[in-house]
Amino acid sequence: MKKILILIAYFTVHLTIGQTQIIHRNAEIQQMVSEISAESLEGYVRALAAFRTRHTLSKNDPKEGILASQNYVLDHFKSFEAASGGRLTSELDIFTIPADGRRIPSDSQLGNVMATLKGTDPNDDRIFIISAHIDSRALDIMNTEIDAPGANDDGSGVAAIIELTKIMSKKAFQATIVFVVVSGEEQGLKGAEYLAKKAKSENWNLVAMLNNDMIGNSNSSQTNINDNTRVRIFSEGVPAVETEQMTAIRRYTNAENDSKSRQLARFIKETGERYVDQLEVKLVYRNDRFLRGGDHTPFAKEGFTAIRVCEMNENYYHQHENVRVEDGIQYGDLPEFVDFEYMRKITGINLASLAVLAAAPSEPQSVGIDVRKLSNTSTLRWDAPKTGKAKGYYVLMRETDSSMWEKKFYTEENTLTIPYSKDNFFFGVQAVGQNGHESMAVFPQPITR
Ligand SMILES: [Zn+2]
Repeated sequence: MKKILILIAYFTVHLTIGQTQIIHRNAEIQQMVSEISAESLEGYVRALAAFRTRHTLSKNDPKEGILASQNYVLDHFKSFEAASGGRLTSELDIFTIPADGRRIPSDSQLGNVMATLKGTDPNDDRIFIISAHIDSRALDIMNTEIDAPGANDDGSGVAAIIELTKIMSKKAFQATIVFVVVSGEEQGLKGAEYLAKKAKSENWNLVAMLNNDMIGNSNSSQTNINDNTRVRIFSEGVPAVETEQMTAIRRYTNAENDSKSRQLARFIKETGERYVDQLEVKLVYRNDRFLRGGDHTPFAKEGFTAIRVCEMNENYYHQHENVRVEDGIQYGDLPEFVDFEYMRKITGINLASLAVLAAAPSEPQSVGIDVRKLSNTSTLRWDAPKTGKAKGYYVLMRETDSSMWEKKFYTEENTLTIPYSKDNFFFGVQAVGQNGHESMAVFPQPITR
């Protein structure tokens, strides 16, 4: 316990001390965030909507339908390869989905457009995925002919992916980032399911998956709320898959609000709000919305850490609707209803979060909290991260009824004892790199012997 530094607000910390918020931005990440252009995003959304329909089962045509739109995305990815110094590679990953008697009437070939930005450290096998879905739909999910512009759902997410790939592929990150535009979302999360199973069977060290689905609507139907200053992150509390042992430990430590996906959501809130002004990240404590699904869910079901980024307010006149005017109301998912400035900000929180994660060391390993005896202090221990070098660690602390971490204790040791009772707080530990970038937080397991 020689030189334990207990510093609040060290490096790139963003937290509230009394009334003062300290925001320290890394210049390179700030620069990347500032490159995100609402105009570029608008251009992509309008181009995507102009394919008339991007229904998963739409016909092959050079000017309309899903394949033409996938080629549009792939051409953009390809055009970014040169500036990446050979680190960015892109492809259309084609696979066969069997008929399911529901939304896939016969065996069908689907494709995910992928751009992989290889990490710079050959010993770092971490992968981060950011995704959106290219397919669109109208009211009748099986109608492959009708206009389905899908400007917001999910043209907005796809546009963000293109913009992120353009900006981030010019930079070097320690870990690998995969930018994915999946298909088959509306037909039952088919493209994401295929990719999640592939990641599982090929044993990818997939650390986090960020799904962006509908990030451009800022006006609600019925309640008529106009707000482009808040965005939702959906994350599961209790993991979709748990072993018996995981369940037992979750119950023992009361960790139902500390799943890995919830830690990722907290990480995005802190990091996103650090780098993007005028955007509040709202954590929603559920995996997704009622009657709706998303591409993060197949990943969660394979045991991966995955969240959904989604606009704060939805407009049901412009979702899954046929383009038409009825009783003076324009229905349909048209570009004129997308708020591109809102999209710019949401793209920014994605960029900042991915950049910090991919540039930070991996998480500390074997993080534990000593529960062997009664005490009014708390002792945590951990091992160094598997990849990347940690300069130090943050021990994070919050009241049990608080959503976000409230105090950060910095140390360069692998253990820390603090004069707060383990019974009254929740804790986490982050690794901090030489560059000041933090890993996601790890919730400690009980040390019982
Ligand atoms: Zn969608």
